[in-house]
Amino acid sequence: MGAAVYAVRAVLKTVVLDRSPLSGGQILTTYEVDNYLGLPGLSGGELSDKFREHADQLGVKFITVNVQAVEEIAETVEYRIHTDKTIFQSKAVILATGASHSLLDVPGEKELTGMGVSYCAT
Ligand SMILES: Cc1cc2nc3c(=O)[nH]c(=O)nc-3n(C[C@H](O)[C@H](O)[C@H](O)COP(=O)(O)OP(=O)(O)OC[C@H]3O[C@@H](n4cnc5c(N)ncnc54)[C@H](O)[C@@H]3O)c2cc1C
Repeated sequence: MGAAVYAVRAVLKTVVLDRSPLSGGQILTTYEVDNYLGLPGLSGGELSDKFREHADQLGVKFITVNVQAVEEIAETVEYRIHTDKTIFQSKAVILATGASHSLLDVPGEKELTGMGVSYCAT
């Protein structure tokens, strides 16, 4: 979303393709984000809502699709983005697929993920 904000402000037609309808990625699973300058003490959901609001205000378009492949079109300087729903074509592509954590497969993992706060006492 950060890259999309830069691109749209540079007057480029900008689309974010995300397989999740909820914008935010990993930060959505975070109970509290307290290291974001100027925005202390927000939950991951609140912070990602702010990111999304900002991008929406500037006119970034969001489309929910699962990207399966990015193909370089040899005869042009463009890319074909294959998704589970349709094919997009673009002059530039920024890949920001992030990461997802491995699961431990232990009891309570599903219910407790994203619920904890850890403090380091000295
Ligand atoms: C539990 C936890 C706590 C954290 N706490 C903090 C914190 O307090 N402060 C902090 O600064 N950072 C924190 N982080 C790290 C922070 O969340 C990540 O650094 C950040 O989310 C990375 O952003 P990203 O956009 O690179 O990737 P991600 O957030 O992983 O986003 C990737 C996006 O790509 C989409 N995507 C992936 N593959 C496809 C595909 N094939 N097609 C379409 N869409 C796709 C996903 O749906 C997702 O929306 C935490 C992370 C976790 C897991």
